[in-house]
Amino acid sequence: MLAVIAIVQIRELTRIYQQGDIKVVALDRVSLDIARGDFVALMGPSGSGKSTLLHIIAGIDRPTAGSCRVDGIEVAALSETELAGWRNSHIGFVFQTFNLIPVLTAFENVEMPLLLTGLSAAERRAHVEAAFELVGLADRMDHLPRQLSGGQEQRVAIARALVTDPTLIVADEPTGNLDAKSASDVLGLLEALNRDAGKTIIMVTHDPKAAAHARRTLHLEKGELLKDEEVRR
Ligand code: ADP
Ligand code: MG
Repeated sequence: MLAVIAIVQIRELTRIYQQGDIKVVALDRVSLDIARGDFVALMGPSGSGKSTLLHIIAGIDRPTAGSCRVDGIEVAALSETELAGWRNSHIGFVFQTFNLIPVLTAFENVEMPLLLTGLSAAERRAHVEAAFELVGLADRMDHLPRQLSGGQEQRVAIARALVTDPTLIVADEPTGNLDAKSASDVLGLLEALNRDAGKTIIMVTHDPKAAAHARRTLHLEKGELLKDEEVRR
């Protein structure tokens, strides 16, 4: 029988930031599993450790103690050089502020992660066009970011996050800078990518309406993961 291995396995994960004499425990012995194909919303008040947890999963930050395995790899054990390559092929990161490069077209922005792979220009074009189809912006590929609405910019950023077919898509407050209609479009897109394309997604949000698009919700408070019975509704 095949054991079902969680795509993300976190055990007793702790992150302490030390600034002079002040210690901030951003994550306090967090343990959790995320299955392949899941869509998890990570909620909690400001400062509860949501971004820290996302950054450790994505290999952007390193834990003080404990374990975080993504697809069987202990991320913190990778060197900085290994991390750069690992991140590029395994993590698609979506930011609150989109982070598109203003002087590049939408097409060129989405192509960026593929420049680090061995794909030919024709292969890259095919992957980029497929990503634009998935986010519903095939007619905007030659636009510059400033020629797009905020919602469209975020959909381009999502295309960039999924163009390498990463193990995980992680999104930190992806609708935080969007109006209600654009936010709803972006959430609908993430939901469809999970449901129809099988993408595994972890999304930080403090908006319960955004979290309702996910399959399950985790709650952080002061660096600790709340048990179901501890969540105030
Ligand atoms: P959230 O995303 O839930 O708002 P964060 O994960 O950004 O919370 O931060 C959790 C705690 O860790 C906060 O108290 C924050 O001030 C602190 N923190 C985060 N990053 C750093 C850092 N680079 N240096 C020092 N403290 C940090
Ligand atoms: Mg944050």
